[in-house]
Amino acid sequence: MRRGIEELSNDKFDVLVVGGGIQGIAILYTLTQQGIKAGLIERDDFASGTSANSLRVIHGGLRYLQTGDLGRMRRSIKARRQFMQLAPSLVRPQGFLIPTSKRSLLNPALMRVALFLNDLISSDRNQGLASTNRLPPGKILPNCDFVRPFSGSVEKSFQSGALWFDSLIHDAGRFSIELIKSAQRDGAVVCNYVRAEKYLRRQGKVCGVEAIDRESGDPFSITAKVVVEVAGAGRAKLNNNTTGDFDRTRRTWLKATNLVLSKTLNSDHAIGLSGIQKGSQDNNSLVQQSRYFFFVPYSGCTLFGTFYSVLEEIPDDLSVTQEEINSMLAQAQLLCPEENLTLNDVKMSHVGVVPAGIGSAEKFFTIEKRSSINTETLDGFEGLISVQGVKYTESFQVADEVSRVVGSRLGHRYRQLKSRAVVGLETCLTTSIADLARRAVHDEMAVHLTDFILRRTTLGEVGCPDRRLVQDYAVAMASEADWSAKRIDSEVTELYKYFESRGVRET
Ligand SMILES: Cc1cc2nc3c(=O)[nH]c(=O)nc-3n(C[C@H](O)[C@H](O)[C@H](O)COP(=O)(O)OP(=O)(O)OC[C@H]3O[C@@H](n4cnc5c(N)ncnc54)[C@H](O)[C@@H]3O)c2cc1C
Repeated sequence: MRRGIEELSNDKFDVLVVGGGIQGIAILYTLTQQGIKAGLIERDDFASGTSANSLRVIHGGLRYLQTGDLGRMRRSIKARRQFMQLAPSLVRPQGFLIPTSKRSLLNPALMRVALFLNDLISSDRNQGLASTNRLPPGKILPNCDFVRPFSGSVEKSFQSGALWFDSLIHDAGRFSIELIKSAQRDGAVVCNYVRAEKYLRRQGKVCGVEAIDRESGDPFSITAKVVVEVAGAGRAKLNNNTTGDFDRTRRTWLKATNLVLSKTLNSDHAIGLSGIQKGSQDNNSLVQQSRYFFFVPYSGCTLFGTFYSVLEEIPDDLSVTQEEINSMLAQAQLLCPEENLTLNDVKMSHVGVVPAGIGSAEKFFTIEKRSSINTETLDGFEGLISVQGVKYTESFQVADEVSRVVGSRLGHRYRQLKSRAVVGLETCLTTSIADLARRAVHDEMAVHLTDFILRRTTLGEVGCPDRRLVQDYAVAMASEADWSAKRIDSEVTELYKYFESRGVRET
């Protein structure tokens, strides 16, 4: 797997996908499965933005029962199963537990009915899954031990907990890379560190992009019959560069953040608790009101979130401030008083952006709930398909819809295909650092040390690895990528800048 700049500029594509987050990658994978010749460019490294920072829950949409949206719930159940089929070793069952409450919708009797309905509606949830990956039915746990660390925050009337099973994606970086490798084997051409600058248009119709190779600085053009833009927060700039009209497609984004705590607060199940508000709230924090926060056991740590705030501008590099970390930690302390959590328990944070929808008067912005596939012909954008996913979980569902739209544009007949594993039950047991570096550089398009450490391995997923280990990885990568000593230093510096922007405090 190498950076296919030449192929991108010379080949003629049926489809060019702009943006290599999980949504773009799922679209590329699905299109190539359909036998469509597709290319993909990503401004940074693959799945390094929001897609690397989710809470990792691949959910079956239990919450959609509340609104009676059974259609969406069924789609979520199917999506979860598809993920578990694609990567059985990485997408594994995870129990979720919330305390019931005598006084609300969460009362045990209602929750029992909800869990029963959830099991009924998802009766085919385990179809085609490995026996080790089956999702058990939900249940009410009458006497929950989980209450111990959270006892200060859970109301006294609490007696029991509602337990259901979803799945968690472990190592989303590996999942993305394996999807890309699989698409490449089926003829896709992909390249990281290539930014689309503006759309190419012929007779008013979008027919490709002008791009820049960020490694060499060279500009080049890519042509395609259809362009699918999945650039998320990068969309406005791309549109603006093309038409000079910034406002038309501008939208509001929310910054979404999770905290990584070094303690395993509950190793068995993820725990969901209603947020506790203390003191006055500014307008920005309205977004968080009455949200559930989850403590999710992950890789020997706990992921805690998710927090949202309105972003006025999208910076080039997202970061998390100490103030934000303090505020998330304060919420964790309120919800989990017995653990006496301090800043020493914070390993790092994960941050990304999600699109905002317009809420009610007192809650101006909410999280956008629906994915969208925009095929409307705006002035100067004829032929462009613009896609906005809102959930990691729904990526393949959205990709499937996109491939139908693309297929009908190209006159290509849609084929119903069976999901096959791209990452088997056996994970790769490559162990030596030299082997990992060789694979990352030559087979997996790792260009920078961050690509290697953060996405071709799990070393930096929940905290900053030891300096000596980082140096060993940097030297191993240098010998594969032919780096000078100066380049090693600058790559290591960039890696630490990344961790600093995630609130990592070196000890
Ligand atoms: C903190 C947090 C927790 C979350 N938890 C969950 C969860 O538990 N479960 C769940 O289902 N979902 C969750 N989500 C939502 C989920 O992560 C997102 O919906 C999903 O990752 C979005 O993927 P994407 O590919 O659309 O966007 P992105 O990952 O943002 O990808 C867009 C890509 O486009 C690239 N790009 C931009 N401009 C250009 C350009 N000009 N040229 C080339 N490339 C460009 C960017 O570099 C980027 O990589 C969470 C999100 C956050 C932030």
